[in-house]
Amino acid sequence: MIGRRELLALLGAGTAGAAWAASPAPPPASAGPPDPKLLDELVAGNRILADQGVVDGFGHLSVRHDKRPDRFLIARSMAPGLVTPADVMETDLDGVPVDPRGRTPYMERFIHSEIYRARPDVMAVVHSHSPAVIPFGVTKVPLRPVYHMASFLGAGAPVFEIREVAGPDSDMLIRTPALGRALAKALGQAQVVLMRGHGFVATGSNVKTAVMHAVYTEVGARVQAEAMKLGPVTYLNPTEAAKISPQNDALVDKNWDLWRARAMGKQQP
Ligand SMILES: [Zn+2]
Repeated sequence: MIGRRELLALLGAGTAGAAWAASPAPPPASAGPPDPKLLDELVAGNRILADQGVVDGFGHLSVRHDKRPDRFLIARSMAPGLVTPADVMETDLDGVPVDPRGRTPYMERFIHSEIYRARPDVMAVVHSHSPAVIPFGVTKVPLRPVYHMASFLGAGAPVFEIREVAGPDSDMLIRTPALGRALAKALGQAQVVLMRGHGFVATGSNVKTAVMHAVYTEVGARVQAEAMKLGPVTYLNPTEAAKISPQNDALVDKNWDLWRARAMGKQQP
């Protein structure tokens, strides 16, 4: 039997948007103002991802709302390196902005909404098109924890194949809840999922760890590709990866403080 979400995915692009526009339902209720610290981290995280070369004009970062788990905060459709607090929109888990005020949401916000729905432990989500990661999504070579800073990859870096859900005629974008749900399913319990021919998604238990995981997904991909040129590679084994990963997350402020100072110093208006 086919559900409404699957139907929307099959019908494709404009359908979800049209259904939303035609819906008589009132806009979702707001969870109220988020913790100002959360908003500050979200803005800084956007700037850091741009400064560290993980995103360019495309890509996005979101954080789950601290007052309601079925709401998240994400910038309007814009370059992450230019995000300010005024650009942040509250969105529900159907991808509907609570208070758009004329602002355009990201087309691929369903990446975020469906991962938050599927994974209660995930508090922040990054989406990137980093070129260093792309080769691992289009070949049979898995992205693995090549060094300790990429240890979170020990939980796996599965590849999402959009053709398995949308067939051969998609535009590659996660533009419906159904596609977002399929992506979240591919992520499973991992921290990172690669998207074939598109990019990747990194998650974390807060904004700082999600940003750090995104940075070291990109760095790890570069290091692994370099190592593979030299010969057979010895990766972290599952125990090594499982032991060091929480320690890196606990010390995230060391990187965050440095990255934040660089990114905000450079780009603050
Ligand atoms: Zn994308």
